[in-house]
Amino acid sequence: MVNEKLMAAEENLLHVYNRFPVAWERGEGMYLYDTEGKEYLDFAAGIAVMGLGYGNKKLNDAMKAQMDKICHISNLYYHENVGAAAKALNEASGMDRVFFTNSGTEAIEGALKTARKYAYTKGNDRFEFIAMEDSFHGRSIGALSVTGTSAYREPFEPLLPTVHFAKYNDLDSVKALVNDKTCAVILEPLQGEGGIHPATREFMEGVRALCDENDMLMICDEIQCGMGRTGHMFAWQEYGVRPDVLTMAKAIGDGFPVGAFAMTEKVAESSLKAGDHGTTYGGNPLACMAVKTVLEIFKEEHVVEHVREVAPYLAEKLAWLKQRHDCVKECRGKGLIQGIELVPQKPVGDVVKKALDLGLVIISAKGNTIRFVPPLIVEKGHVDEMAEKLEAALR
Ligand SMILES: *Cc1c(COP(=O)(O)O)cnc(C)c1O
Repeated sequence: MVNEKLMAAEENLLHVYNRFPVAWERGEGMYLYDTEGKEYLDFAAGIAVMGLGYGNKKLNDAMKAQMDKICHISNLYYHENVGAAAKALNEASGMDRVFFTNSGTEAIEGALKTARKYAYTKGNDRFEFIAMEDSFHGRSIGALSVTGTSAYREPFEPLLPTVHFAKYNDLDSVKALVNDKTCAVILEPLQGEGGIHPATREFMEGVRALCDENDMLMICDEIQCGMGRTGHMFAWQEYGVRPDVLTMAKAIGDGFPVGAFAMTEKVAESSLKAGDHGTTYGGNPLACMAVKTVLEIFKEEHVVEHVREVAPYLAEKLAWLKQRHDCVKECRGKGLIQGIELVPQKPVGDVVKKALDLGLVIISAKGNTIRFVPPLIVEKGHVDEMAEKLEAALR
């Protein structure tokens, strides 16, 4: 499986990733192929990015045609793709104003700046954030400052000193941290990296009410759980709890690097203005062609409806695996973002490696958890194939 010649080139890279001993060559639908031609069923989707699977023809054709016209012009000028992508994304996300970034991390940075500027505009001297334990929001200094995993944070401290961490799904622990300096609460409606933990309805509604009562903004990070993954276009819609600021990335470009942060009109009116924020690449005509086309395909192919149809089957299959294997402690998740927590005696890293050998791509999440985030085009037959391979890997 290891292509020694290809892997040798890794010498030139900074070693910040523990890469698996496999080099991919191409992908097709739900499957990946390595440089030796071996086929793998993919239940990771490049970490919840490839919602439409590999090699979507409509998307690829649109991107190729756009490349031949123009890729980049800078945000000093307007391009019709930018407006079209913004309109389509706002329709899908339920937000009013959007700013395109190059990544999820940058979307978080923009969201934090939005909250600070909102407080500044209102003249209310609020600058502190409340974030959640076990959250993940990115690796830049700002995003890391609101990320609740100490192992990621420690070597880079001191980070922003104005962040306090509450317990996820524990409203009282959030309440206890609110003071007259708090400008925003940031949370994922479903924690992905943190181990596949969905927010409870009481928690989402409670945080919303708390933010309203205290003039704080509610920032929802849907970089991983958004774009149809939970069975809703965006996860907040299931709760009917509309955030003030929403961050997106991963699946919105289906493999093209693009992210976004969006906000309500009310926040836009009193926050970032000309000169307050910017990016050279962000939302260029090629990136926006990706977003616009992905959203078109979501509508045409009824992707969210498909997720709702096939997701219960995945959940059922995972519950069935739990019954048959003592090493499976718990099943959690929503839609096509599911996790199974393994007992400590069964390290998730070993299972993931064994699965790869058996031709199944899965990834881990915090807390000895296997994370299932397949392309959203997955069919029941693929779920069966996955379960069969996973059974062998769990043995
Ligand atoms: C992946 C992720 C990020 C960071 O996005 P990048 O594109 O890797 O910068 C932030 N928040 C959540 C919830 C994520 O899953």
